[in-house]
Amino acid sequence: MTVSSTATPLTEIEAAVAQLRVTFGTNKTKAISWRKQQLRQLYAFIRDQYPLIEAALKKDLNRNPADTQLELVILLNEVADAIEHLEEWMKPTASAPTLLTFLDTAVTRREPLGVVCIIAPFNFPVQLLLGPLIAAIAAGNCVVLKPSEMATASEALLIEWLPKILDMDAFRIIVGGVKETTRLLEVKLDHIFYTGSTSVGKIVMAAAAKQLTPVVLELGGKSPVYIHKDVDIEVAARRMCWAKTMNCGQVCIAPDYVMVHQDIVAPFAAALRKVLLEFYTEDAKKSTEYPRMINQAHTKRLVNVLDRQLALKHSELVIGGDHDVSDRYIAPTVVSNVKVSDPLMEDEIFGPLIGILSVTGEDEAIEIIQSRDRPLALYVSAKDTRVVNKILDNTISGVSVVNDYVFNMVLGDMPFGGVGSSGMGAYHGHSGFLAFTHQRGMVWRGTDFLTETVHKFMYPPFASSPFAL
Ligand code: NAD
Repeated sequence: MTVSSTATPLTEIEAAVAQLRVTFGTNKTKAISWRKQQLRQLYAFIRDQYPLIEAALKKDLNRNPADTQLELVILLNEVADAIEHLEEWMKPTASAPTLLTFLDTAVTRREPLGVVCIIAPFNFPVQLLLGPLIAAIAAGNCVVLKPSEMATASEALLIEWLPKILDMDAFRIIVGGVKETTRLLEVKLDHIFYTGSTSVGKIVMAAAAKQLTPVVLELGGKSPVYIHKDVDIEVAARRMCWAKTMNCGQVCIAPDYVMVHQDIVAPFAAALRKVLLEFYTEDAKKSTEYPRMINQAHTKRLVNVLDRQLALKHSELVIGGDHDVSDRYIAPTVVSNVKVSDPLMEDEIFGPLIGILSVTGEDEAIEIIQSRDRPLALYVSAKDTRVVNKILDNTISGVSVVNDYVFNMVLGDMPFGGVGSSGMGAYHGHSGFLAFTHQRGMVWRGTDFLTETVHKFMYPPFASSPFAL
């Protein structure tokens, strides 16, 4: 694992958090004007420094400009949405009056949590740091940011630019890898927002438990797909290839394993092959638009899974399989006739490998989904709405999309988050604001004659009270 040479000294991490506590104590970050100003600065950064962000993502992942544009438009919409709705989100809401409280002011206040931390993964190193940051600022918090050390160009860009645009009284960036993050997690924080793998999510949650720090965990897992026999095969194949090769399959909600109705396995596999050739030609390595794995270690990991899979006599390579570890390249690959106990079904793939399982129909697909951990995303392609509803009604997942992939991400007001081992808590839009907010109930009683007359019935001795039985 790469660790930046400018890693934050371990001895400075506690002091950085302490400094943010001082800022939080001044109430500066609670002012709506301050929150909006920071959000506007973020908006301007994303809009104006777009070429720098695009260049960093190109360097880290050979990300193509179209995908970066989509990512940044989503981010810009998220900031704009927060600015537009901030007053409404912050407004205390009144509780319905009761016989005992009708003279009181009874409201729920939306208050910041304090000093929160955001830990980001490598695959969308800008979006997955700045997205939660938008929510944390909107909610009025001080924030410790931990960018991914693996996406080195994006990390360098964020380290350089965030201090130029944000009020650094209220923000700190911790640079480094496991050692630095481990130290950060030992310090008392008011909330941890972690995006990354399920295995590290467990480490983060165990560390948080020691201090009873609340967490949002945005984790990974194997997101299943069911392709029914009535689909338009070409459309279904095109959408799958688009979603599976985006960012070289390094997308937390990428389709992971594909259960195809047995009647259409052969034509569907052929359609995937045809589409991948159209998208990236015979040699995807030469395509300027085909992305790369983040590093050689992750490329080797996939090569190893693929080798183990193809060593099994029953599986069939439909297309791909080529790789060049030194170039972090692995071809878009389709393997047919995968079984549930095969290597491709072990861990989250997080790369451009599509494993096809032949199933007898939606019932078998449901059985397979139910037998595994609850996924982050679930995808169904079918014309028959009964099939779609049956799958949705009999499974649990963080999010779901029908007849396509990842489109939930473009809806700013749709909560995004996992369930079970794919995570806990949600964000985006108002959900993000709430994730970083303490909802503080407040009852304010008067001391006037009328209020006290009502209250007197609750004082002992109770024998004279009208409430006495
Ligand atoms: P990762 O868990 O390896 O790293 C994420 C962050 O945790 C990094 O900042 C890293 O420095 C830190 N970290 C790593 N090991 C640690 C340890 N032992 N102790 C403390 N901190 C540690 O994840 P990754 O490889 O960068 O990202 C890929 C994973 O993230 C995939 O599983 C993917 O599905 C998941 N992911 C989830 C979402 C989501 O929104 N649910 C989004 C993107 C990625």
